[in-house]
Amino acid sequence: MEVLWGRMAVARCETCGRPGRTKFDYVFVAEPVGYPDPNIRCGKRGCQNPAIIWLYVIDAMMYENQKQRIFQLPFHPAKTVTLKDGGYFVSDKREPVKPERTSKFKVWLSNSRQRAVWGNINPVECDYFAADGIYVTVKGDGSDLEKWIALRKDIFVLCERVG
Ligand SMILES: [Zn+2]
Repeated sequence: MEVLWGRMAVARCETCGRPGRTKFDYVFVAEPVGYPDPNIRCGKRGCQNPAIIWLYVIDAMMYENQKQRIFQLPFHPAKTVTLKDGGYFVSDKREPVKPERTSKFKVWLSNSRQRAVWGNINPVECDYFAADGIYVTVKGDGSDLEKWIALRKDIFVLCERVG
């Protein structure tokens, strides 16, 4: 793929975070292919940590819409960087925030007249109307939900991870 000359991607480790005030606002983060890559180190003076790549909005659009993955790294020994899929916009001005992990399960009630009770679990999303069970999405790895389902055999029969 063609290198997009003139663009200003910046390499920063997760600790150093968003590049400081420049002409541009860095709004998008993506990991280099092979991250953590010893050739793509943080560009902050004195820092040697492996870096993720910050893009400003025009480059972020190239990444998202044109599937551009190679960017110039000015003032960096690597000169260019190839980015992985899965980059994301960072809304907060200070820190990159990874999208929160969720887990999706299919559960069956022990009795169709029973109501689902979630205890301390706060499902992000519940689809009660699927023909083959209730689809429930929870934050995190889902172990809380699995424990709850195992504990409440009076309500649930089965819990199957679907995502
Ligand atoms: Zn750093």
